[in-house]
Amino acid sequence: MRESILTIPVNEIFEKKCGCPVCAMRDELEQHAVEYIMGAAMMEPDVRIETNKTGFCKEHFEQMRSCKNRLSLALMLQTHLQELQKNVFNDKGFFETKDSKNRKTTERVARIVNDCFVCNKIEWAFTRWLTNMFDLYRNEREFRELFREQEYLCLPHYRTLMRRSEEMDKGYKNEFRESCTELVKGYLNELEKDISHYCKMYDYRNTGKDADWGNSKDSIERAIKFLTTR
Ligand SMILES: [Zn+2]
Ligand SMILES: [Zn+2]
Repeated sequence: MRESILTIPVNEIFEKKCGCPVCAMRDELEQHAVEYIMGAAMMEPDVRIETNKTGFCKEHFEQMRSCKNRLSLALMLQTHLQELQKNVFNDKGFFETKDSKNRKTTERVARIVNDCFVCNKIEWAFTRWLTNMFDLYRNEREFRELFREQEYLCLPHYRTLMRRSEEMDKGYKNEFRESCTELVKGYLNELEKDISHYCKMYDYRNTGKDADWGNSKDSIERAIKFLTTR
């Protein structure tokens, strides 16, 4: 798998100033990885060996299922299931006790259930992307401004950035973290207002054609996205 399809320029994502930039980066990586798996990866046995072992999480199976190429998905599933038969639920270990065999099988299953080829690629690319982002933040004043001008950070990615910013240079760490917190607080206040407005619209006094919903109509969806990234 070529590294270049997992390289997303930092500035390109931040210049959009639309939604959470980390969600935007993840969405783009996901799209590249899923398209690749459903297309070019068919020609690369190395990738198949890997996907046979890891499988995919529900979210990424769903994204693959919504692609047109269902044969690709079926072929991938075929060898993944065969791998399970051969290497997880096999009758190897002739001299082992039943107890130890069961334990080994359970351990292997636990690994597969928690594994996903696309999630792994995203995690790999994300670490590199963050290093570039922290470099930009340290070196460019314009980028620090651009960072502050983002629409918001979703809650899970706020946590990720706060955790990973531990490795940042001391000089910019606090400024970065304050910017992150401001982005969350500002959007949280906005969301809370919109959701409260939405609830108020169910009052009998607010029924009728010219009821003013303001920005509240999609506030449930926006609040869920803010809380869960999806
Ligand atoms: Zn996010
Ligand atoms: Zn996944």
